[in-house]
Amino acid sequence: MNITHHISDELLFDYANGALEEGWSIAVATHLALCPACRKRLSAMEAAGGMMLEAIEIEPASGPTEDFSWEAMRARLDSAASASSVIAPAKRPSGKNVSLPEPLRSYIGGDVDAVKWKPLGLGAYHYPIKTSDQDISVRLLRIPAGKPVPEHTHGGRELTLVLKGSFSDISGRFGPGDFEETDETVDHQPIADPGEDCICLAVTDAPLKFKSRIVRMIQPLLGI
Ligand SMILES: [Zn+2]
Repeated sequence: MNITHHISDELLFDYANGALEEGWSIAVATHLALCPACRKRLSAMEAAGGMMLEAIEIEPASGPTEDFSWEAMRARLDSAASASSVIAPAKRPSGKNVSLPEPLRSYIGGDVDAVKWKPLGLGAYHYPIKTSDQDISVRLLRIPAGKPVPEHTHGGRELTLVLKGSFSDISGRFGPGDFEETDETVDHQPIADPGEDCICLAVTDAPLKFKSRIVRMIQPLLGI
């Protein structure tokens, strides 16, 4: 897997601090399961955060019983790191021929063939994923090869993680494992590349605002 688009420092930092809601965390943790480079960045961030915490907690008058050995420090860092993430990334990607890594796989209840797609119009399909967050929409999208997702802007942040196939938009080409982070300032039109349907995980924090009046009118019916 040749991943070229990664999680931003800001988002990874929020994840490391347990500051992300479940919906965002699913996208971040699933990218982490696929991306050794981001796992490395996360470990470094958690270690740095742990050391900053230590520096604050260790005061000169904390008494002679405190254990300042490297082993004790490392143990504290490890426990801080394991407690910090809302949803832990899988230790390693799932086996071969598996398109949906954990933790996403558990939310779907199986691999791609288990997904009960719902038609979205224009040949596209989606599968809404239930989480504890009412105001964050988490879904799988299936865009037919060579076809666009209707042009839209966002009421807030949108995270997209490609699982199969690829799409292109003004930010470049996104293939399996690639992670895109956009917000209301970006007006983009992702188009699935020819050859294979593009399946991706899309997380948004507000209903999408479609430019087309007709799409806007039927939006409530589509549940998007
Ligand atoms: Zn990455």
